[in-house]
Amino acid sequence: MNLLNQLQLPSPVQKFEFPDGVGAEINFFIKRDDLIHPHISGNKWRKLKLNLLNAQAKKLDTVLTFGGAFSNHLAATAVACHPQGLKSIGVVRGEEVDLNNPTMKFVQECGMEIFPISREDYKLKTDEGFIQGLHEQFGIFYLVPEGGANFYGLTGCQEIVTENPEDFEKIDLVCCSAGTATTISGILAADLFNFKTLCFSPFKGGAFLKQEIEKHLLFGYWDKEWVEEKLNSVELILDYHFGGFGKIKPELIKFIDWIYTETGIRFDLLYNGKMLFAIYDLCKRGFFKSGQNIMIIHTGGVQGNAGFSNVKL
Ligand SMILES: *Cc1c(COP(=O)(O)O)cnc(C)c1O
Repeated sequence: MNLLNQLQLPSPVQKFEFPDGVGAEINFFIKRDDLIHPHISGNKWRKLKLNLLNAQAKKLDTVLTFGGAFSNHLAATAVACHPQGLKSIGVVRGEEVDLNNPTMKFVQECGMEIFPISREDYKLKTDEGFIQGLHEQFGIFYLVPEGGANFYGLTGCQEIVTENPEDFEKIDLVCCSAGTATTISGILAADLFNFKTLCFSPFKGGAFLKQEIEKHLLFGYWDKEWVEEKLNSVELILDYHFGGFGKIKPELIKFIDWIYTETGIRFDLLYNGKMLFAIYDLCKRGFFKSGQNIMIIHTGGVQGNAGFSNVKL
C-alpha cells in the first residue's frame, strides 16, 4: 500500500499535563492516533486498514460505506481509497444533507461519490435486502459498515496496543471514547497487560455501549468467560455527553481552545474533547489515584470541528 508511506505509525505516545496543574499527581500519557494522518485520522485508519486490504485481495475496485453529514469515517474512507486506486461511495444519512458542508465538500474532492438517503432508509444499512438494492444500483462493491465496525476494524484497533506494547506495559488505566465501541473493543481484544479501561460515552444514555463491546468481543472471539473478564475491566463514564451526540456547549469549546493554546494538541468536539473534559473534571473530583499511570487514546477526528462555525480550531 503506497499510502502506508504517508502514515505516522506507530503513532507517538507523549506525556500530558493539564496546563493549570490539575491532576499533577497523576501520570497521564496520550497515544496520538490523531497524528497518523492529517485526514485519515486516528481510529478510522485502524479500522479501515484491513478492510481496504481485504477489498484489494478480493480484487474489488469499489468501496461503499455509510456515515453522517460530518462523518470522520467518510472523510477517512474517501482519502484512503483514492491513492489505492479504489473508488469510494458514501451513503449519507439524511436527504437534507448540505453537500457543501466542509466534510461533504472534502470527500467529494477526494473522489467519493455521495449518495444521500432518508433517515428511515439509513436505518436499514445492515439489512440484507437493502444492501442487495445498493448492489443493483452500484454494482459490485466491498462494503465497510458504518464507522468501520466489523471484525477487520476490531482487529485493526488491536494495533493501538500491540504496535508498541512497551508503551502500555506500566499503564493502570486506558481512557477511550466510544461510538460503535469498535476501538475500545480492539484495545481489549489485544489482550495484553492487565490495565483497566474507562469507556467515555459521547451519547446521552450511553449504557448500551457495554452491550456493544460484548457483541464485538463475542463476535470476534467467542470465549464467553474471557469476554466476561474483559467486560469486567471496563467502566463506563456516562455523565459527560453535553446533552447528547453532536451537542456541544460553550464551556466545552472554551476548554478545548484552552488545551490547544496551552499544549498545542487539538481535540475534536464530538469524542475526545468530551473525554478530556471528563478526565479533567474527574481529576478535580479525586476519581484517580495519585501515581496512577493513565493512557489517553486520542482517536483523532479534528476534521469534524470545521462543521462547527463558532469554533476557531
Ligand atoms: C469514530 C470515532 C470514534 C468512535 O470510535 P468507535 O470505534 O466507533 O467506538 C471516536 N473518536 C473519533 C474521533 C471518531 O471519529
